[in-house]
Amino acid sequence: MRRIPCPVCGNDEFVPHWDCGEFQFVRCRSCCHLCQNPQPLAEDVRQRYDQKYFDYERENDVAFLNLMLLGLRDVAYERWIPDLPQPVRVLDIGCATGALLEFLAGKHGLAVQGVEVCAPAARYGIGRRSVPIHIGTLEEAAFAAGEFSLVHFSHVIEHIPDPRGFLSEVFRILAPGGRAVVVTPDTAGLQARLFGRRWRSAIADHLHLFSRRGLSQLLGQCGFSIVDQAYWGGLPQGTVPRWVKRPVDRAAKRFRFGDVMLLLAERPRTAAEPGG
Ligand SMILES: [Zn+2]
Repeated sequence: MRRIPCPVCGNDEFVPHWDCGEFQFVRCRSCCHLCQNPQPLAEDVRQRYDQKYFDYERENDVAFLNLMLLGLRDVAYERWIPDLPQPVRVLDIGCATGALLEFLAGKHGLAVQGVEVCAPAARYGIGRRSVPIHIGTLEEAAFAAGEFSLVHFSHVIEHIPDPRGFLSEVFRILAPGGRAVVVTPDTAGLQARLFGRRWRSAIADHLHLFSRRGLSQLLGQCGFSIVDQAYWGGLPQGTVPRWVKRPVDRAAKRFRFGDVMLLLAERPRTAAEPGG
């Protein structure tokens, strides 16, 4: 285990927030970012993404693809993809079995690349879907600067031990004018406040839990500007009847109190340097 400073504001004072038994979330005293601290070592975190994780990804890959597409449609991706830096190359980090990459290559004819730490999932995508996937972390893939025009990572950043280093690497490999789609749970949503430590996102694999404000701040510090955002996730399936769930889900999207956020961030075309 190791202790870390707050990735959003750099402060190193934390107070207990949620005690989930075998793991705890603490809250940054200055910016309210939630994380597990001390944290498991990155090498140990990696061991979690094994055959069992692949089985889970494989069972849900159609459902997960549909959710990702709903998010992308919320920010009208088909409208701005043609304006991305050419030639358009898309990277999906934490691409699991490569379902989104297969879709983007097939439907939109885009050049695609994946990164996945879960080796069985990546091998499945390479073999069955014929999409190129680097098995390992983003940093290990060592892509060239400005190599991509779109980088997508859905439900990934909350699993990453060093989210600031991760976002800086995403910035580096994006061409100026390129965009990043970040999807992650939002602690500012209604559910986190309603369910507390029983919130569906307060799980051991989530090392960091961002608020929309904290994530925007961190993206800004890494050089990005936020160009759009969407929120969804009303009530979890199975907790209430459908006739209650549907209007709540719709309201969550419209009034932005859902517990999942999508931030669309752009690497500005002008040469502003990160860190400001
Ligand atoms: Zn902080």
